[in-house]
Amino acid sequence: MDIIRINELEVYAYHGVYADEREKGQFFYVNADLYVDTRKAGMTDDLNYSVNYGTVCEFIADFMKNNTYNLIETAAEQLAQALLLEFKPVKSLLLEVRKPSAPIALEFGSVSVEIVRGWHEAYIAFGSNMGDREKYIDDALAAVGKLPQIEIEAISDKIVTAPYGNVEQEDFLNGVIKVKTLLPAEELLQILQQIEQHAGRKREIHWGPRTLDLDILFYDDEIIATNNLVVPHPDMKNREFVLKPLMQIAPYKVHPVYHKTIKDMYDELR
Ligand code: ATP
Ligand code: CA
Ligand code: CA
Repeated sequence: MDIIRINELEVYAYHGVYADEREKGQFFYVNADLYVDTRKAGMTDDLNYSVNYGTVCEFIADFMKNNTYNLIETAAEQLAQALLLEFKPVKSLLLEVRKPSAPIALEFGSVSVEIVRGWHEAYIAFGSNMGDREKYIDDALAAVGKLPQIEIEAISDKIVTAPYGNVEQEDFLNGVIKVKTLLPAEELLQILQQIEQHAGRKREIHWGPRTLDLDILFYDDEIIATNNLVVPHPDMKNREFVLKPLMQIAPYKVHPVYHKTIKDMYDELR
């Protein structure tokens, strides 16, 4: 991806653990690589298709001056998020916050923190088979959409499906959404679990009735296998209630483990 680069932007600001640093302040230097597709701007000579680096520099300077953090880790983290939320053509960025006058009683050039942050793509399955199923789902999608770090990009139809597994229970309402998010996969899962809790979700019977279930199907093309989180969702190839709504919004998405499209997986299941 193309890069718009900001080099050694000087800002006088007040970040530091010591009271002295927070009162007197010192110079900080910011480097940023903004990953932006500049092709269209390059072909049309029109700034509307790119990001105004002057505006970005002002934004960084204001942000660094108007906030005070103990750590340059926090300054970098919060600034990265603010930039990604403000300048939508920026898909990801590399950000370095440098502090050449840090209080260290030794000779040194500077200390700095460098981070890489960006938007990720995730697919999330939703399901409900208790009470007002439609309302549980609509409330959940509204809650997801309200978070600044998550943007819903596509929503499938809600389909009625017979329960999966051997538990005797009501029919489900199921579907999937595609989102872009600034959250790492683990944090996305935590947010989804909070939303489930808010809907009164209780974990009683495995695959039993539930007011709301939110599962991460894909997170970019990452393969994740921890105790809390397995992505891609391991049972999706057997689930029509996942593959059918996925067919609506992502038929040609390739499963990063099976290397098959959703369409091929759906056809095989049927
Ligand atoms: P299934 O995952 O087979 O659809 P379920 O949705 O009924 O079953 P839950 O009781 O909702 O299972 O979740 C059990 C645990 O699964 C959660 O606590 C969570 O940590 C873990 N988990 C692992 N991978 C995922 C994933 N991709 N999405 C959501 N939860 C996951
Ligand atoms: Ca589930
Ligand atoms: Ca679940």
